[in-house]
Amino acid sequence: MTTQPTPKKGISEISPYVGGKSKADGAVRVIKLSSNENPWGPSPKAVAAYSAESTHMHRYPDGGHTALREAIARVQNLPVSQLICGAGSDELIGMLVHAYAGAGDEVLYTQHGFLMYKIYTLSNGATPITAPEKNLHTDVDALLAAVTPRTKIVFVANPNNPTGTVIPFSEIRRLRTGLREDIILGLDAAYAEYLDQPDYEDGISLVKENTNTIVFHTFSKIYGLPALRLGWAFAPAHIIDVMNRVRSPFNVNSPALAAGVAAMEDQAYVKDMRAKNAVELKRVVGAVTKLGYTVVPSTTNFILVKFGADVPKMNAHLASHGLIVREVAGYGLPDYLRISIGTTEENSILIDALNHFAKANVA
Ligand SMILES: *Cc1c(COP(=O)(O)O)cnc(C)c1O
Repeated sequence: MTTQPTPKKGISEISPYVGGKSKADGAVRVIKLSSNENPWGPSPKAVAAYSAESTHMHRYPDGGHTALREAIARVQNLPVSQLICGAGSDELIGMLVHAYAGAGDEVLYTQHGFLMYKIYTLSNGATPITAPEKNLHTDVDALLAAVTPRTKIVFVANPNNPTGTVIPFSEIRRLRTGLREDIILGLDAAYAEYLDQPDYEDGISLVKENTNTIVFHTFSKIYGLPALRLGWAFAPAHIIDVMNRVRSPFNVNSPALAAGVAAMEDQAYVKDMRAKNAVELKRVVGAVTKLGYTVVPSTTNFILVKFGADVPKMNAHLASHGLIVREVAGYGLPDYLRISIGTTEENSILIDALNHFAKANVA
C-alpha cells in the first residue's frame, strides 16, 4: 500500500487551463490567432513606461497600486477606494471565489462560460454549476432557475468568451434584480472596450446601485499587455476590503503598474484599436460567411465559426499555413473553431487560406 500526500477535495477534478497554441509544425511564419490578443500590440507609451522601470528592479512594487488605481479612477471616473488591481483579471476572479465560496457553496455561470470560473471554483472546494445558454447567448432565465440556497457567486462574461456573444444590459439588470442580495454578481468585461454601441454597459452602474456586484476589466485584450498580467476590478468597498485581505501584498509588479498607467491614460490608442478591430472583424466575418460557414455574431476581437465535421481538417489546414486558431471542444463546442482577429495583413493570409481550403474541398 502506498501512501502519498493527497490534495484537497476538488483539486483533482480540475483540468488544467490550456492556453492558445503558439506553434505550428514546419510553418515558416506563425500567425497566432488563438488567444484573443491585440495583434497590433500595446500603446508605445505603455512600452516606454515599462522600459523606464528597469532601473528600479531592486525595489518592491507599490503594494497599494496607488498610481494605477488613480489613473483608472481618473479615466473611468470611479472612486479610487473601490478599485483593486491584480495579476490579470484571472487573479481577481480567483480572489473573489477564494474569499466567498468554499465547500458546500455553489458558483454559477453559463454553459460555455470562461473556463477560469470553473477552475477557481474547484480549487476552492466549491461546486461549479452551469446554466444552459440559448443559441450560444447567456440566458438570464436559465441562470435564475439554476440558483439554489447554496449559490454564492454568479459569473457572466458580457461579451462572453469563447462565444463572442453579448446580451442587452437590460438583461444583466434583470439578472441582478432576480438574484438574492447575498449573491455576488461578477461581471467579466474583458472585451467591453471593443464595443461602442450606445446600449452596451459593462456593469459599472450596477456596482454603484447595489452592494453585491463586481465588474472585472483586463489589460490583456484591447490594451495589448497580456504578458504583463494586469487587470482591475470595481466593487463596493466591503468587497474590495475582503479581496484585499486575501491578496498577496505585491501581486502586481512595478513594470506592469507603470505600463498600466500609461496604457490607461492613452485612450486615443484604445479608440484607434477599437476602430481597427471593427474594420477587420467585418472583413473576416464577410469572407468566412461568403464561404458558407456560420459565424456566431461577435462584438469582440474574435469569432466563433461553425465548421462542423470539417473542424479537424480545417484546423490542420490552417496550421499548415502557419495560422494557429483555437479548438473549443473543451468548452463544449466541438463543431467550432475560435479565430482571433489579426492585423490587416494577417487576416488577408487567413482569408486566403480559408479560400484555398474551400477550393480544395469542392466535390
Ligand atoms: C481574456 C479573458 C480574461 C482576462 O484574462 P487576464 O487574466 O486578465 O489575462 C478574463 N475573462 C475572459 C472572459 C477573457 O476572455
